[in-house]
Amino acid sequence: LTLVKTLSPGVRLRAVLARFTIVLGVALAFGSLAPQGWAADTGPAIEISGEPVQSGLLIGRGPAGVEVHVNDTRVRQSPEGLFLIGLDRDAPADLVIEVRPPSGGAKLTYRLAVKSRDYDVQRIDGLPERSVTPKPEDVARITADSNALREARQRDSVHLALLAGFVWPLEGRISGVFGSQRILNGKPRQPHRGIDIAAPSGTPVRAMAGGTVSLAAPDMFFTGRTVVIDHGHGLSSIYAHLHEIDVKPGETVEAGRIIGQVGQTGRASGAHLHWGVSLFDAFLDPALLARHPALATAGAPAN
Ligand SMILES: [Zn+2]
Repeated sequence: LTLVKTLSPGVRLRAVLARFTIVLGVALAFGSLAPQGWAADTGPAIEISGEPVQSGLLIGRGPAGVEVHVNDTRVRQSPEGLFLIGLDRDAPADLVIEVRPPSGGAKLTYRLAVKSRDYDVQRIDGLPERSVTPKPEDVARITADSNALREARQRDSVHLALLAGFVWPLEGRISGVFGSQRILNGKPRQPHRGIDIAAPSGTPVRAMAGGTVSLAAPDMFFTGRTVVIDHGHGLSSIYAHLHEIDVKPGETVEAGRIIGQVGQTGRASGAHLHWGVSLFDAFLDPALLARHPALATAGAPAN
């Protein structure tokens, strides 16, 4: 038996979220995905916090012990029933969440419409030409960096530290937003997969949430001195162009722990932090995460 519930996430979900926000405050705001009149014995209902929009993060909560599948991929649930859904920069409009009770009872299917976003075009000139069009001898190093970063993104640790605390890595002017189509030295390149925060070289950079350092690389071709932190359930954050790194791979960090200093290493036209967030290979907008209704945020940017 399959029950299909089609939800228009716009008005209804927002209304529910607003109500829950008032009741629970900003610490944990969940909106129920179960339609009105949902009978308790029909099956497990799930709750979702966050806006279904491209490059956004949804935090779900369901009864512990059910199986949750998102677009046919099973996702990890915490002992409290929490699970994460990452909507890529170009996520399709249709999101399908399936909940399968352990007893083999009715499988429930939820559908969410993912809002699309328009992204800016950003032109950056004055970069060293070799960083925009690498030389043939750079390719092996670029490939090795890319493999190491991809491997770090695949971690699926049990411990989910995200909800224990969330901070901006540093305060400063946002000099590059997420998702922009980039024209570097006049040449079209990959979209921007994070946000840039301008700050003087040497400014401390903090871990956005607790987790384990999965990568601390001294010299990557594009990202320079680079730290990646694994926050559990496939969620990672990357901090690039650092001047110094203050953590080692395998180290456990709390939210707000200083992990390094702002620098200009790798492909950078000035001192800034590149801060990226991903759920496995889905790249998320850190600015949306910082406004997430389920996360209490600290240290909002200066602008
Ligand atoms: Zn950047």
